[in-house]
Order: sequence, then structure tokens, then C-alpha cells
Amino acid sequence: MKKIDLHTHQITEEEYIQVLNVFAQDLPFSENGQLFSTGLHPWHIKNVKHQESLQAIETAMRQKNMIALGECGLDRSIAKDISNQLSYFEEQIRLAENYSKPLIIHCVRAYPDLIKLKRDLKSDLPWIIHGYCGNLETTRSLIRHGFYFSVGESFLKDERKRASFQEIPIDRLFLETDDKEVSIQYIYSTAAQILTADEEMITEAIYSNFKTIFGNDKLICF
Ligand SMILES: [Zn+2]
Repeated sequence: MKKIDLHTHQITEEEYIQVLNVFAQDLPFSENGQLFSTGLHPWHIKNVKHQESLQAIETAMRQKNMIALGECGLDRSIAKDISNQLSYFEEQIRLAENYSKPLIIHCVRAYPDLIKLKRDLKSDLPWIIHGYCGNLETTRSLIRHGFYFSVGESFLKDERKRASFQEIPIDRLFLETDDKEVSIQYIYSTAAQILTADEEMITEAIYSNFKTIFGNDKLICF
């Protein structure tokens, strides 16, 4: 069974299923066999042409190997206007809805905004928070609201967040390397250790989550 790296900035190991992050401003992406996600990152909204970026994302949505919209989202730790971030995020959510593709979300200090948005928009899509590192209380609340979590090295390494990680139901969990120089194998074995679970069981569970969310006949990866 293949291990899945749900969000990575570089392709490294061919025996894994990797979802490459491509920023909207770097589109078009033309490697046919490579799964990818693309979106307008909240860090970049001041520096790109929005209509062009959204148009490029929409064009990419029609590619079979573009499997999720993101990373997109909200970041209250940067000085950029949150209402601007919200409006570009909402446009992207609408696009994701139109093409029925899940969201891969960057969220920093904006979990209440995120929960409110998901509730107000009554979105049935899978909303996957990548680089997740919230505390126990936040995790519980996000679980109640149906979110998925993609977890990487910094969360796993943070002893204070251990209970929070252990709280995530296995059927809502993904693992990722993001932009870190770490192997997905290492992330899986660290996760298995923390959960005192068999690595093979985790591999199977995440593979099954991936199939549930992304697996349909149109997908070319399995
Ligand atoms: Zn990333």
C-alpha cells in the first residue's frame, strides 16, 4: 500500500503518492502524470493579478491530475487585510464547489473565521487544513464541524500538542512533508509512534481516506 504525501513543495520519492503544491502564479502546470493542487495563497494576494490568478486556477481545475484547490485560506499573523483574504478565499471556495474538488487550506490564527465560513456556506466539500497545529480545544471544535487535518513535522514534534494530535480521528487524518526537508516515511513512523499504532494500519487508513475523498474513476493515480 502506498504512502501519501498530501501536500509537498517538491517531488522526491517516486514510490509515494505525492500531491504537489503549485502556487496560482506558477500556473499552468503541464506535467500530466503528477497529482497537484493549486490555489492563491493568502501570503501572495497583494503581489499577484487576482483575476488572472483565479482564471488560471479555473483552467487548472479542468485538469484530471489537479485534485484539490489550495493552498488557499486565511492568515491573521500577516499584516494583510483580512477582508481581502476572505474575499479571495470565498471566490476559491466557490470554484472548488463548482468543480467538486476538495480544499487544501492554510489557516493561521483564523480558525473561528474558518468554522464560520464553512457553516455559512453550508459547504459539503472536504475542507482539509494543511500544516495543522491547533490546540486540543480547537481540534475538538474543528472535528465537530467536519474538517480534515493534514499534519506535518512541526505539529508531530511539538510535545505540547501531543494530545491534540491524538484527538484527530484516523478517518480525518492525512500526513504531509510541506516545504520541509524531511521524508514522508519519517512523518509516518513518527505519527505511528505517537499514536502507538502500527505504521501499516496508519498507511492503510490514510490510503482509504484518500480514496474516499479523491478516488474516482477520473483519477489516474492508483
Ligand atoms: Zn505548503
